[in-house]
Amino acid sequence: MPHAKHGLRLDLRTLILVLCALTAVVMLCASYFASYRVQRQLLIDHALEANRVYAMKLASITETFIGNALQQLSFSAGVQGRQLGDAVALQAETERVLNQSMAFNSTFVIDANGVLLAISPAHLRHMVGRHMHSPGVQKALQVRRPLVSTPYMSAANNLVVALSQPIFDSNGRYLGYVGGSLYLRERNILNSLLGEHFYKDGSYLYVVDRNRRLLYHPDSQRVGTVVEGNELIDQLSTLGSGTRQLTNSLGVEMLAGFATVPSAGWGVVAQQPLTQTVMPLSHLILNVVGTSAPLALVGSVLLWWLAMTIARPLWQLAAGARSMDRAGTAERLHRVPAWYFEAAELKRALLFGLNLLHERIGRLNRDAQTDPLTGLGNRRSLDFNLSLLEAEGRAFAAIVLDVDHFKRVNDCHGHEMGDQVLRRLAELMRRCCREGDLLCRTGGEEFLMLLPGANLEVATAVAERLRVTVQDTPVEPVGAVTVSLGVARWDGEAESEPGDALSAADRALYRAKQEGRNRVVVA
Ligand code: GH3
Ligand code: MG
Ligand code: MG
Repeated sequence: MPHAKHGLRLDLRTLILVLCALTAVVMLCASYFASYRVQRQLLIDHALEANRVYAMKLASITETFIGNALQQLSFSAGVQGRQLGDAVALQAETERVLNQSMAFNSTFVIDANGVLLAISPAHLRHMVGRHMHSPGVQKALQVRRPLVSTPYMSAANNLVVALSQPIFDSNGRYLGYVGGSLYLRERNILNSLLGEHFYKDGSYLYVVDRNRRLLYHPDSQRVGTVVEGNELIDQLSTLGSGTRQLTNSLGVEMLAGFATVPSAGWGVVAQQPLTQTVMPLSHLILNVVGTSAPLALVGSVLLWWLAMTIARPLWQLAAGARSMDRAGTAERLHRVPAWYFEAAELKRALLFGLNLLHERIGRLNRDAQTDPLTGLGNRRSLDFNLSLLEAEGRAFAAIVLDVDHFKRVNDCHGHEMGDQVLRRLAELMRRCCREGDLLCRTGGEEFLMLLPGANLEVATAVAERLRVTVQDTPVEPVGAVTVSLGVARWDGEAESEPGDALSAADRALYRAKQEGRNRVVVA
């Protein structure tokens, strides 16, 4: 319970609540973060590997395609070598190769001097007989072996890649070559092979030759351009196959898998955006949060309950400590379930302290109401007991008592001896009354006895017994001492006050003195 005096100071319950809440939040965040990191890496690794496998598959398909295409051209080169003078037959063979497999956009035959001898499809036939100067042609004539060219602009103004096979006669003389070309910017076998396998999640693939020129790209505008500043593409020819996390030309982070086509020296790269790859994670984490939140809540409540159970004895003890002065605190402290060591120790210490406190207060109280000389009650004790009797409306008899000629005792035997007589008298008074009667020293050598519930006869008898006892009990060296006594009674009725009875007893005592002392007078 927060106490005004403590101002800003937090109590244990609040601290524990804050602790529980903090613990729960920190633990949850830590586990969410950890699972996010792990899942994210898994997704990335998986995507990279999938792209690598995909790139390898496509590279191998492309390799197979090139192998087959060169095979076809090789066969055709044999056929054309035997009919080089027959323009019609040459033309028919180019047409056959073109139609046979749909591998090429055009097929042609060029002689050793670079003159076009035949070409298909038919609409290019007007070029037959021309001298070909394009770089691809020059290169093929120069190397005289099977070749996959780099992209170049053809005579028909197409960006092409040409596959070629040399033609030799039976003596091994070079006669020219047969070629098939792919129009990179138009529909060709390559892009229909690659473009079919298109993911929808933002992933795409592209193919570059060993000079970093794009042979295939989903953005057809870029086909034929050279890719600059792409670290992966720069190293592709030496890397073989693998994976790479990189930033593409648009500044998008990509997860790439790559593979090479050995016969052509091409590289195939399959990649997808990192953000799209890890997108499912946000749903996943939401799911995790949704699933774990109720559990965490239950856990927190349990934790809170446990913390409360630990704190309860402490704040109960603290409440007890604050109200040490109030009645019933001891019982309340006793009831505190101090079920662990520290609480039990505190409880023990508090109860010990409380006991000590009560004992001290009790002793002080007793001292305050006791006459130090005789050990009887003093005036304070009388007033207190009178008010109790009055409050209860309980009848009592009062005996007022005064030592006769006490001055003489003091004068003849000294003050010390007088005190001794007073102590002795107190002892006799104690002997003559019952438990529950109240004995007081109200003045120097004046005493009072309250006998609760006693009637006048009983009180008179007690007074008489006391008088005789005192008279018959000499105190050496003083000798016999006598007392005069006045008796009165309060009947507990509301009309009169207890004080009236005491006054009546005083008056009776006065009469006893006047009538000769050493006697009992009843009011
Ligand atoms: P009487 O009562 O019979 O009329 O005569 P008395 O001599 O007893 O007269 P009074 O009651 O007036 O005297 C009281 C004397 O008691 C006065 C005082 O010297 C003495 N006295 C009062 N208190 C004490 C006390 O504490 N110790 C002693 N030794 N004497 C006390
Ligand atoms: Mg007196
Ligand atoms: Mg006297």
